[in-house]
Amino acid sequence: MIRCENLVKIYKRADLEVVALQGLDLHVEAGELTAIIGNSGSGKSTLLNVLGGLDRPTAGQVTVDGKDLLQISENELVLYKRESVGFVWQNNARNLIPYLTAQENVELPILLKGRRKQIRALEMLDAVGLSHRRKNRLNQLSGGEQQRVAIAIALANHPKLLLADEPTGSVDSNMANQILDLFRNLCRSLGLTIVIVTHDPLLAGKVDRVIAIRDGKTSSEMIRRKSYAQELEELGSGAGAEQPEQSHIEYAVLDRACRLQIPSAYLDAIGMKNKNKIRVTLEEGRIVLSPPQ
Ligand code: ADP
Ligand code: MG
Repeated sequence: MIRCENLVKIYKRADLEVVALQGLDLHVEAGELTAIIGNSGSGKSTLLNVLGGLDRPTAGQVTVDGKDLLQISENELVLYKRESVGFVWQNNARNLIPYLTAQENVELPILLKGRRKQIRALEMLDAVGLSHRRKNRLNQLSGGEQQRVAIAIALANHPKLLLADEPTGSVDSNMANQILDLFRNLCRSLGLTIVIVTHDPLLAGKVDRVIAIRDGKTSSEMIRRKSYAQELEELGSGAGAEQPEQSHIEYAVLDRACRLQIPSAYLDAIGMKNKNKIRVTLEEGRIVLSPPQ
């Protein structure tokens, strides 16, 4: 669904240049739920905005659902934003109109007309578990409920890809868990591909695939040892309140030119600070990296 290779995004403001993405690699399969973590300023929102067609990439390669977002024309980009992707932000005020009901809010962006539009809106409210609140005005709903309306809106035009930038940033941890469960169900029931940006390591610990971004580059990828769904089944609810470091296996990212990105914590641990060469040897089917002698 998503393929980024050596993706670069440079923001130019007057004579200042900010390299927000500097050669990022990322592959996401259709139907996957992926979390992206990283410090503030590491390029997470930039990546999401590029994937959502809100920002043009500067260089490299990025294709989403077979569409090349570097080459795409303005007209195609409008269609892409309308039909292929849905967006959820942390601050749901950006998506919602307070004096309309939940249902009216969801109906607004739907491209269908009349009765079909209503039916679609009801389906989407049902998908996010809010049918019973459809007639309430937005300002009568809790923060978590409002966020679910925002998710229903993002799904209204049946996108294949849902992008969520810190979707749980302004709700409590109980609600954050419910929203994560909702995303997981949507992946399964609608076959949706979902990418969530989060800075909450506990939340990331509950997603099977976590990608860490540092300084605008993919720094490593973590895959859960045991799927979260499986762990829940074995241990009951509340399982897996661990950071990805404990629950996941960490992988370094290998790009097409065979360049390997080694998480800096590993290099620091073997005293590789300020060195630009590392010893590489092959030992019994393993590639071993060690400080130069
Ligand atoms: P994150 O979401 O991980 O906090 P961002 O993607 O928002 O990071 O930002 C990455 C870098 O790009 C930061 O240095 C930020 O200041 C810069 N940046 C983001 N958006 C813009 C913009 N529109 N113009 C200039 N610089 C920007
Ligand atoms: Mg951000």
